[in-house]
Amino acid sequence: MPIKVLDKNTIGQIAAGEVVERPASVVKELVENALDAGATQITVEARGGGVGRLRVTDNGAGIPAGEAALAFERHATSKITGPADLENIASLGFRGEALPAIAAVADVELLTRSDADAAGTYLRLEGGAVVKEAAQARARGTTVTVAGLFRRVPARLKFLKTTATENGHIANIVSRYALAYPEVAFELIIEGKTSLKTSGRGRLIDAVIDVYGVATAGKMLAVRPPEGEFAAGAEAAVSVSGMVGAPELDRVGRGHLSFFVNRRWVTSRRLTYAVEEAYRGLLMTGRHPVAVLNIALPPAEVDVNIHPAKSEVKFRDEAGVFRAVQRAVRRALVSEMPVPQVGETTAAYRSASSSPQTAWSPPVNRPDMPLSEAPPMLAATLPVLRVVGQVMRAYIVAEGPDGLYLIDQHAAHERIRYDKLRQQRTEARPEVQGLLEPVALEVTPPQAQILGACRESLAAYGFAVESFGERTYLVRAVPALLAGEDWEALLRDLLEELSGEARSDWEERILASLACHGAVRSGQALSDEEMRALVRQLETTPNPHTCPHGRPTVIHLSAARLERDFGRS
Ligand code: ADP
Ligand code: MG
Repeated sequence: MPIKVLDKNTIGQIAAGEVVERPASVVKELVENALDAGATQITVEARGGGVGRLRVTDNGAGIPAGEAALAFERHATSKITGPADLENIASLGFRGEALPAIAAVADVELLTRSDADAAGTYLRLEGGAVVKEAAQARARGTTVTVAGLFRRVPARLKFLKTTATENGHIANIVSRYALAYPEVAFELIIEGKTSLKTSGRGRLIDAVIDVYGVATAGKMLAVRPPEGEFAAGAEAAVSVSGMVGAPELDRVGRGHLSFFVNRRWVTSRRLTYAVEEAYRGLLMTGRHPVAVLNIALPPAEVDVNIHPAKSEVKFRDEAGVFRAVQRAVRRALVSEMPVPQVGETTAAYRSASSSPQTAWSPPVNRPDMPLSEAPPMLAATLPVLRVVGQVMRAYIVAEGPDGLYLIDQHAAHERIRYDKLRQQRTEARPEVQGLLEPVALEVTPPQAQILGACRESLAAYGFAVESFGERTYLVRAVPALLAGEDWEALLRDLLEELSGEARSDWEERILASLACHGAVRSGQALSDEEMRALVRQLETTPNPHTCPHGRPTVIHLSAARLERDFGRS
């Protein structure tokens, strides 16, 4: 075939493919337009998974009558005027591609009125061309109705999933924007039924309640910018705020992580990783946190023009943003993490593990628990405790300023060791115990492979191991925490375990093993002195409330609870 420039219609279809992947993409673009127009009320209606009909109604600024048809021309936008503006994008849209892309793959009706016009404007487009234009009454705002989506693009239609799945994607988009804009009242109506409705009162916690329910909202911790903390360079320009779930609020998938960059919903593996790093040691493996995070930074620090759907962004200083997010989340977790209360503890931890939630399920607009019963957010770190004694050779009983505390001796000690090793690792200053004579360690061929590959990680925690012939290694020093312990057995076990793990998980596995091995066991009698030492260390360790596997270390029976249970109040 000879080379030819494609006709306008084909070009439009190709371009549309990048913007409109599925019905939820249409919803995203229309909601973004409504938000850019300053709407305070946005209603989204979907039928037939969005393929039947989609309608987005807003009370925003509207489109002036003379510009309505122009809005459907490719690259027509009111949001930027030239290349310089691309450096400083403050609106959600800017490419001028959404409306023409939608009109290229569906029949579209527009009804809009701006303050400047006495009457509204009605437009109907088929195959991307205006087939009808008329004046029609309407209050200020815009309604876009999209019907027969992909009817003329059978290839795309074939790739869509079930109605329920597509509706799920639509609910996902609307929920994310409801979280990003708590001051906007959203309503989502799916197949004629209201599936989500937010108050638009303006507080993030209200939006979180509307989207996730009261029980989840009650376990969210506030993320705030640091007070008076020294921040340098780009990090100083980044402000991270929002809410993150207490570790017990864990989920099977990553669908409960929402990131907004200058209030644009984005997906980012980097940001996901930053948050998960902050939870390291607080969640069980395979579980993921809940988070709603707003990252605000000067528009020039972020490039939003890297993806036609604008769902990914590039930061000028990726590492700086990563650090800021990780620190902000960590700060929230450390300073606000509640000590679990008796009664709530087992229920909360059990329900988290027994109700696996996959990716995203459309929000249920039914609070599952009255707000007053939401667990109280208690003190930051552990209060100073007076050791009373040991029960069942497993738990330390202690008295605090507000009642009784039960401490799981193994979990607590494991946590203390974990935090200590982790800190030494971060500071690259492992506490080492040199051996009087090097010990020869003979290993199997597969173990030799692993040991060779993980030697550096082991060294970071204080193991000095060197190769001595094919299958023999010489150990010259071990982590001080393991002095006097059977570290040889630990090393062998570890090599076994690492062989079944992805290499990226090795570090964490080594850390967890070192923390667990040598920690006080359950069933071990402790002297008063030993118990006191353990409790003192727990009081000062950075993350006293859970063991590295995410289980609680401390259970609190408050004075009020005791009085109530004894019928004194
Ligand atoms: P972009 O949002 O990138 O500018 P669109 O194709 O989505 O491109 O929209 C084109 C233009 O139409 C916008 O720049 C805006 O001026 C106008 N517009 C679209 N939707 C609305 C709306 N809901 N309210 C007011 N103006 C709108
Ligand atoms: Mg747009």
